[in-house]
Amino acid sequence: MAGRSLAYLTELPPDLVKGIGPRSVKRLSDAGIESVADLLLHVPRRYLDRSQLFDLSAVPLAEEVTVGGTVLSVRKRRISRNRTMIDAQITDGTNVMTAVWFNPYIKVAEGSEVILSGKAERFRGRLQMKSPDMARLDLGDSLLVGRVVPIHPSAGGLSPTKMRDAIHNALGRSRPVTEVLPAEMLLRQELVGRDQAMTDIHFPEASSDVEPARRRLAYDELFRLEIALALRKRRQVDEATGVVHDADAPVVGSFVSALPYDLTGAQHRAIEQIQGDMTSAHPMHRLLQGEVGSGKTAVAVAALLTGIQSNYQGAVMAPTEVLAEQHYLGIRGMLADADLAPEAIDPLGNAGTGSLFESEERTDRGVRMALLTSNNAEVNFLPAGTAKRSDVLSWISDAEVDLVVGTHALIQEGVDFARLGIAVVDEQHRFGVYQRVQLREKAEGYDPDLLIMTATPIPRTLAMTLYGDLDVSVLDEMPPGRLPVRTIHKRKDQLDLDDVYSIVRNETAMGRQAFVVCPLVEDSDALEAASATTEYERLQKVFPELELGLIHGQLRPSDKDGVMQRFRDGEIDVLVATTVIEVGIDVSNATVMVIEDADRFGLSQLHQLRGRVGRGADQATCVLVADPTTPEGEERIAAMVATTDGFRLAEEDLRIRGQGTVFGAKQAGAKDLRLADILRDTDLLIAAREEAFAMVAGDPELDGHPLIQEEVQAMLGEDVAWLFRS
Ligand code: ADP
Ligand code: MG
Repeated sequence: MAGRSLAYLTELPPDLVKGIGPRSVKRLSDAGIESVADLLLHVPRRYLDRSQLFDLSAVPLAEEVTVGGTVLSVRKRRISRNRTMIDAQITDGTNVMTAVWFNPYIKVAEGSEVILSGKAERFRGRLQMKSPDMARLDLGDSLLVGRVVPIHPSAGGLSPTKMRDAIHNALGRSRPVTEVLPAEMLLRQELVGRDQAMTDIHFPEASSDVEPARRRLAYDELFRLEIALALRKRRQVDEATGVVHDADAPVVGSFVSALPYDLTGAQHRAIEQIQGDMTSAHPMHRLLQGEVGSGKTAVAVAALLTGIQSNYQGAVMAPTEVLAEQHYLGIRGMLADADLAPEAIDPLGNAGTGSLFESEERTDRGVRMALLTSNNAEVNFLPAGTAKRSDVLSWISDAEVDLVVGTHALIQEGVDFARLGIAVVDEQHRFGVYQRVQLREKAEGYDPDLLIMTATPIPRTLAMTLYGDLDVSVLDEMPPGRLPVRTIHKRKDQLDLDDVYSIVRNETAMGRQAFVVCPLVEDSDALEAASATTEYERLQKVFPELELGLIHGQLRPSDKDGVMQRFRDGEIDVLVATTVIEVGIDVSNATVMVIEDADRFGLSQLHQLRGRVGRGADQATCVLVADPTTPEGEERIAAMVATTDGFRLAEEDLRIRGQGTVFGAKQAGAKDLRLADILRDTDLLIAAREEAFAMVAGDPELDGHPLIQEEVQAMLGEDVAWLFRS
């Protein structure tokens, strides 16, 4: 297999390589190595630079060092049923050090020359290194002599040494690895060639060769991903039949002028961008990104009304029942303020029997709205609780209803829109890509406009990768007069708790309201509900003078609604809650958010919860009650106290958790991001994106770049297969 492309190498099984037996195939595949290409992309964890060896007499303790020496003796012992300990005495001629491994696969022989890398420590007065990385010089292995020694991660039962040998063999038979990028691009981006990068990443002549190699291979990953996104976007534009909406009708204008506030500049800009998309023949695919409280709802309503005034239907899908309900009530109120509420229909009259609305122009008779969740169906032209679900469904399918707000129930079987023109998905992070597709597919034969809203502050780089096929509007300006939420950390001792309670008492005494969020119970709604109930009972004794409410996921929907309604109406002073209130809840009179055991929540969740307060003009306070038990918990609390900037928090989150957990397993392209680090490689990502989009703009089918086409397909697999169907 001399002189091969990466795409070709993805088709060769790893046991073609000398040093890998058929028995390793299954175990390698479990470790994600299924081909020779995967093997070549299994890059060293680190490199031992032989020029920087410490003498054993001068080894600093507790920091990473590399030492060299001869093995004096080796012992192998079972220390428990499934643990084996190997220890070796190593000397550099003057001093002795013990190396200890708890790995039965370590092969170390008396008399062999080794290089070890790890942290040295004193154990019972003697110098020792636990589980050091090791390179053996005695195997006649020229890879190791006089150069930088790569330490490959062991995988599939292959030790680092075996792995290194196998990769050496694989590389030898694949070289020169075929270049796929145009020479001018390499020049422009100052990238080394593919073959050189592949060689240098595994077997660098000098330590300084490693980074250019890594950059090239990381660029390749990002470029493949961006090519896939550019192609997808291109397809959306080329193949889709959009709806041409009319932005000039007066409805949006009357809605905006009836708002009790002026839109921010950012809201105006977003609405303009959205209307620009909606009035064009291409379907809109836009992400509206904005901090909690930045006013996404008003922008969404403007978009919906743009569709409705053009005689189409609009839909809003929210991730929770509570939030759908709130949007329904909120939007209904906004419409009423703008004189866009429909006339009420006599419930005993013609509702459900034939057409409700005869031939009137949609917008002359107000906007007819429905709420649809799995438990609830309502419309804004009948008294609450009187609409029959089956009627609501038929009004949606007959275009008698203009605007539907709901949960996942919207994308279920049996919900048919007559003429869906604009779909809004709120809090996108709670939905998968598939669900947003399903909502669009509620329109038959054409593609409705799609607006996706998220408050999850995603670092720009991550947004570019996750949502690379979407256009983005950012609400980067908060409504005026908002004060940043003051965030304090309190411990769980009585003194601190008394402080927390007096904050709640002071605020409620001034007529404001508070949330108390109970500890998170992973994966169990029932346990979480039980703990919230206990906390509610306990707090009733703490605050006998206050009106408390309780809300959690196990309540019946009507009870949930009842509690939320009483909280909105100010009848409840303190709402004890689980994370059901995490997203979207908007009660501007609430000024205190107490989060119990806050260290157990993720950063983005904490940020969302904190966003439930500080939505009015009053100073709000968020109290994190926690005795953190892990360093990560500590870090999250510290980050929350330090900043209210969601973008900074998201970056912090990415740093603490690593990108692997941010990308869902199913996220397209996640498997192909092995070397690229989206936080560190921002410049590469931007460069790769520009190059990829420019290439696709000039060559929409990539006819002139068959190698790139082949490689993207081979490396991104099923995720992009549909892009290349012929
Ligand atoms: P989010 O972006 O978190 O969904 P919302 O749309 O719920 O934010 O808006 C948060 C609060 O800010 C609401 O009470 C809303 O009425 C108010 N609001 C929205 N836009 C403005 C504005 N331009 N000026 C003042 N208040 C606004
Ligand atoms: Mg919202």
